[in-house]
Amino acid sequence: MKCPYCGHPDTKVIDSRPAEDNSSIRRRRSCDECGKRFTTYEKIETIPLIVIKKDNNREQYDRSKIESGILRACYKRPVPADKIQKTIDAVELEIFNREEKEIPSSLIGEIVMDKLKELDPVAYVRFASVYREFKDVNTFMSELKKFLA
Ligand SMILES: [Zn+2]
Repeated sequence: MKCPYCGHPDTKVIDSRPAEDNSSIRRRRSCDECGKRFTTYEKIETIPLIVIKKDNNREQYDRSKIESGILRACYKRPVPADKIQKTIDAVELEIFNREEKEIPSSLIGEIVMDKLKELDPVAYVRFASVYREFKDVNTFMSELKKFLA
């Protein structure tokens, strides 16, 4: 992001958080060149992001895919809807905070698992079992034990 004071192209993010409307990210940036600080609001849907899939194909980032994965994992679990939305927001914030143009789908999966761990243990194991493609019950059980330990 270009510095509005001196026009230097490289500025670094010093703080990043969801804006009040929850669909944008508020960032504090500082300029490497002149040292001035400024704030930007970036609409999540206008930040271009490409997801690199397992087969190396690329596709446009799509929030609803993360949403449906998390909803499936939380099916019939006692997790309130607003907590699910907050989890999706947290996943999304972490994804966009990387400030990369591309992200591997495997990394998105890891971030989702990380957040689900805090949300609900069953949802976490469900998601992990689909995501890591557990081949058999033993792998599933060892993952579950690792989690419960
Ligand atoms: Zn500057």
